[in-house]
Amino acid sequence: MSVRVRFAPSPTGPLHIGGVRTALYNYLFARKNGGKMLLRIEDTDQNRYVPGAENYILEALQWIGIEIDEGQGVGGPHAPYRQSERKDIYREYAEQLIAADKAYYAFDTADEIEAMRKRLEEAGADAAQYNAITRLQMNNSLTLSADEVQQRIANDDPYVVRIKIDPKQDIRFKDIIRDWVAVHASTLDDKVLLKSDGMPTYHLANIVDDHLMGITHVIRGEEWLPSAPLHVLMYQYFGWTAPQFAHLPLLLKPEGNGKLSKRDADLGGFPIFPLQWQDPTTGTIARGFREDGYLQETLVNFLAFLGWNPGTEQELFTMDELIEAFSLERIHKAGARFDITKAKWFNQQYLKAKSDEELADLVQSQTSGIERQKLLKICHLMKDRVTFSQEILSEAAFLFEAPTTYEEAIVTGKWNADAIKAITAYVDDLKVYEGDFLADSAKAVWAAAAERVGVKMGKVMQALRLAVTGAGHGPDLMLTMEILGKDEVILRLEKALQILPQV
Ligand code: GLU
Repeated sequence: MSVRVRFAPSPTGPLHIGGVRTALYNYLFARKNGGKMLLRIEDTDQNRYVPGAENYILEALQWIGIEIDEGQGVGGPHAPYRQSERKDIYREYAEQLIAADKAYYAFDTADEIEAMRKRLEEAGADAAQYNAITRLQMNNSLTLSADEVQQRIANDDPYVVRIKIDPKQDIRFKDIIRDWVAVHASTLDDKVLLKSDGMPTYHLANIVDDHLMGITHVIRGEEWLPSAPLHVLMYQYFGWTAPQFAHLPLLLKPEGNGKLSKRDADLGGFPIFPLQWQDPTTGTIARGFREDGYLQETLVNFLAFLGWNPGTEQELFTMDELIEAFSLERIHKAGARFDITKAKWFNQQYLKAKSDEELADLVQSQTSGIERQKLLKICHLMKDRVTFSQEILSEAAFLFEAPTTYEEAIVTGKWNADAIKAITAYVDDLKVYEGDFLADSAKAVWAAAAERVGVKMGKVMQALRLAVTGAGHGPDLMLTMEILGKDEVILRLEKALQILPQV
């Protein structure tokens, strides 16, 4: 049977980074096995629906490079792929369960349910829930006569459909990541399957769709593990074969203890959403990996390693290499630490590996008219020294403004008589130099000038850097001077000779 997996997000806000990882693992698994990747929008909870969230999901997946074979946005044989448009299908299946005595109508009001809970709590019951015992004291099609049930439905009395859990059994299934999971059915409650607004709950819609859409593997976050026994039981009730399950590990705080939260991200100053998101009601903006300057390759590589590893030393993987190396068996069940410094490291590696052209394309929109040739050189100069593309320009401020201050320690340590002598000679020679002013020629003229006045070039190199940039350290000085141009270099050197101590 060919592999069919699905990513089934609910459009309740911006897609959390954990959701992106889930989508990625599904995608890697599908591609690795020559299977299909589906996208289904689980929007049956109308109260939690957030406008814009579905588009956000599509855009995020596209940015990450996850291609959907079938589903929302691309169509396919099981359309529609938005659950709110499949309402009638779920009712039919709920009724099928009722007919088989595996579900029932329940007419209880919220107050009646609350009163039941109170009663049970006061009596010291372990779990105050609607279940095999309590259902017999409530208003449902198990306690009311068939006539009364018909009457109530005909009267449009609000009702829900609940699953009728048979409590006398063990529910067991083998999770690919967690191995055997066993739960006693008596711990489950009679969950609502169909709500009074006619919409299915997550449980019903999810199972029916996974079945109808031929899903073979359900790969999803650990937070859904508690629902899995109910799902397994529902497959049994319907007489369907359940898909295989793989519940992914939790994402933990950067320090490694506890679940990653929005608060950790705010405190740590890092994103936990793939793209920037503006809340449609409050207008608040949540930062995104993309807008913060993380590259698509970075996020893919970083997320792939949050819960999985290849079992080798290799750390940098393209999407194709991940597909090749990926397996569900190599996913671990222990929580995965959201180590943002690792994401930064990946970003450095991927930035460094880009051509000057690619970087210039990234940076172009941030510049106000820097000429392309110059921009290419700036990218070349800075790419080993930055973590994010936007730092290429911000960290290169010395290219756009002559220094106004000079690093104290370097002035004291390196600005000496030899430095002044060599730099003065350099200025003289530059003034008469007529050739192209490139890194190589800048260096050749400098070497010749230093030699002419009997100074070892290596000894006064930092002083030259100080005079040109104001700092004792920085990127390739000769290329820096090439970018500045001869006239600007002369101006800066003359200014330094004037301002700095005359020793
Ligand atoms: N709609 C659920 C979610 O938002 C899907 C869970 C599942 O994959 O079964 O995560």
